[in-house]
Amino acid sequence: MASAVRAVSELVEEARLKFVQEFGEEPQLAACAPGRVNLIGEHTDYNDGFVMPMALPMVTVVVGKQNSGHDVCIVTLNEDADQPRRVDFNLQTDLVSGKPRWANYVKGVIHHYRAPPVPGFRAVIVSSVPLGGGLSSSASLEVAFYSFLQQIKPDDGNEVAKAIACQQGEHSHAGVPCGIMDQFVAVLGKKDHALLIDCRSMEAKPVPLLDTSLVILITNSNVKHSLSGSEYPTRRRQCEQAAVSLGKVSLREATLKELEEAKDRLDEVTYKRACHVIEEIQRTEQAAEALKSGAYKEVGKLMVESHNSLRDLYEVSCPELDELVAAALEVEGVFGSRMTGGGFGGCTVTLLQANAVDKTISHIKEQYSGNATFYITTPSEGAQALSFSS
Ligand code: ADP
Ligand code: MG
Repeated sequence: MASAVRAVSELVEEARLKFVQEFGEEPQLAACAPGRVNLIGEHTDYNDGFVMPMALPMVTVVVGKQNSGHDVCIVTLNEDADQPRRVDFNLQTDLVSGKPRWANYVKGVIHHYRAPPVPGFRAVIVSSVPLGGGLSSSASLEVAFYSFLQQIKPDDGNEVAKAIACQQGEHSHAGVPCGIMDQFVAVLGKKDHALLIDCRSMEAKPVPLLDTSLVILITNSNVKHSLSGSEYPTRRRQCEQAAVSLGKVSLREATLKELEEAKDRLDEVTYKRACHVIEEIQRTEQAAEALKSGAYKEVGKLMVESHNSLRDLYEVSCPELDELVAAALEVEGVFGSRMTGGGFGGCTVTLLQANAVDKTISHIKEQYSGNATFYITTPSEGAQALSFSS
């Protein structure tokens, strides 16, 4: 009932075959990086707060080979990427944003690569992360690409700096002012663990998540409302304004008490946004503690509070996500459920007992007005270099 996740080796083989077909020779290098699901801590990363994502078994794979000269040719096998799916550009003259849009994510990574100059190369991309579904196919593409470049021309190996370079690439070339969470977990994700990331200090603590009686179910609403692009920068601005009004560098530094004291000085919308962020940062730390001690009911309760806050205070949910969460919560054995990612569509994440998975999926299918896709996921490893023999 849930969709099967394609094996990495299968993706590598598909990309290899395409490379041979397109370029008439074998690729020599390969790398991959995962998508992610955020368990809790939404819209807190760009407020210097805590987030708790885990890396997914779905990955983006890049295979390729270095060229002489400064020419690059990249092909994506993903049919959801905009056309054309093959781009040719010169590293010295054409490393600027343009069309197709998907290539901007790659150009951004090349631009911010930490051991310049990057030599010419040819590459093929394939991914099992759904594009635009809120599971961060964009960061998985950036980090997979960075990891590929590291094999052509190694940098100093600093992993946090790598995540930041990929984030900067998304800012400068894709024009998306994203926080650091997605790239961070795509680089540093750890098998059998979620990561509690402090986005102020850029430190991460692994939180064990290997209880086989527990399942993390992702439900893709398969909708993406057009609001998602414009509302994200608006939310960022509102948070910055709230922090300034409170006399803080970021909302991470603010307490609920301080927010209440400043309530008269803030308009209602700014107040609500700040309230979500300050409470969500607290919830995320509490959820990490609860998860560590196996208090799944408590984790679930915090997830539901997070969803309600994103719906009512931060106003980034949508009827489809609300429906999916409500349906999941009706099933016995479900601890909690919430929207995950930026909002206005994409996915929900549900924490539940393993023996309740089938009935949960059936119930959500029955209740949901749209057509959902389900993934049963396990916390997986961050970016890796790959070989063709394995
Ligand atoms: P999300 O990161 O949640 O999947 P985004 O809108 O941030 O959604 O990023 C999706 C975009 O990233 C796609 O529209 C495409 O431009 C680019 N992208 C991601 N993966 C690939 C891929 N395998 N091939 C080509 N482009 C990709
Ligand atoms: Mg993204």
